[in-house]
Amino acid sequence: MSKINEIPTWTQMVPFPGLAADIVMIIHALIVVFVVLSLPLTIVGGYRRWHWIRNSWFRTIHFAIIVVVVIQSFSGRYCPLTYVEQDLRLAAGQPSFDSSFIDYWVSRFIYFDLPAWIFMATYALFFLAVVYTWWRWPPRMLAARRRYESRLYMKFSEGYPIGSPGIPWGDNEKAAWLRKQRKRRSYTQDVVSRIDALRAHYDVEVYGVLPYSEQVGTDYELFAVRSKNWLDSRPTILVTGGVHGYETSGVLGALAFLETVAAQYQAHFNVLVLPCISPWGYETINRWNPDAVDPNRSFTEDAPAQEAQLAMAYVAKHAPELLMHIDLHETTDTDNTEFRPALAARDGTVNTNWNIPDGFYLVGDTERPTPDFQKAILNSVKKVTHIAEADERNELIGVPVEQFGVIHYPGKQAGLCMGLSDAPYVSTTEVYPDSANATPQECIDAQVAAIVGGLNYLQR
Ligand SMILES: [Zn+2]
Repeated sequence: MSKINEIPTWTQMVPFPGLAADIVMIIHALIVVFVVLSLPLTIVGGYRRWHWIRNSWFRTIHFAIIVVVVIQSFSGRYCPLTYVEQDLRLAAGQPSFDSSFIDYWVSRFIYFDLPAWIFMATYALFFLAVVYTWWRWPPRMLAARRRYESRLYMKFSEGYPIGSPGIPWGDNEKAAWLRKQRKRRSYTQDVVSRIDALRAHYDVEVYGVLPYSEQVGTDYELFAVRSKNWLDSRPTILVTGGVHGYETSGVLGALAFLETVAAQYQAHFNVLVLPCISPWGYETINRWNPDAVDPNRSFTEDAPAQEAQLAMAYVAKHAPELLMHIDLHETTDTDNTEFRPALAARDGTVNTNWNIPDGFYLVGDTERPTPDFQKAILNSVKKVTHIAEADERNELIGVPVEQFGVIHYPGKQAGLCMGLSDAPYVSTTEVYPDSANATPQECIDAQVAAIVGGLNYLQR
């Protein structure tokens, strides 16, 4: 503490100490306002996806100040600015400038008249709230670092643990890969039970069985859910989920669609949903089937994956003419850390990773461009989650952007699920579940919003 009435020598270098004291006081007040307001703004901005609240400078300065405030409150001191102001007021010869003046301002404006422990508790809670916002909505630099590290990890794990670099896998390597896979969640519990619950409102059909009992100990029944009041005169829309079983929100999004809004579209459309095309992939969190084949490159005439074969056969038979098909997917960090390296190892090629886009995007069909339809989907999704920005080369996953949030793939040629029909309106959703900005529920909601956006567009 400065001694009262003894003018500190440093203040002699300040030409107008009274004015300087006022300036210090105003700065002090502004800092208080900044610290207090920034927390609610960060939270509101976090939910509303304001860009500026992710600014690393803003967040770091805010954090640093609150740390100082907490430390000084726990050590029983005032803010350093208070002492500076006090010294300047002494130098200016301002009357009644003793602790009572500080008390006046402090109690008036900064502290109020309450016991010290209340301040300490308030500051501590405030501090914890700030820490929470760092975890929930990390500043950009921190979020970028997380992504960078996952890429770095990639770089050093390029040698996939199975097979030899440059040599495609044979049966032994595929078997070695399969032995490493473990069941991590239950198709019966998570998916089939929810499909069963839909029987009151929809026709549920088993459209095939994946005969995997010899390979992995169990067969898998495949389910199609369709409108009860099916009319051939109505246009039919198809939703497919879990072509990549690990892409959780694709499966849960298809189910959520059926459980929530699907009913209200049945007057206009025959609704057909295959919620989980790769149940083994769902259970083991895998992109491939047990034969190390990617079902989403298998929607071709020779159909190397039974998952694709059975789905194609069922749709061709029951819904030969589709108006719309939306295939629900995710783009995950594990695409870079596991699945793309595994793909390169399997095929004996070199893996080059792309940046995983942070946000939702769509893959349309090169052969069937429908820019307005894709835009309608994005506009609907935008209300739920953020759309991915293209990278510095104006690409998403290494493919040039066609329009904001949309890239194209040749659906049929690449054997993608979206190529399984001649529907004039097709799209593949890509939700990014590893975003610091998206919860699992938001990913599911985004899938539903995508379907709804497409349906509303067609219904208009
Ligand atoms: Zn996928």
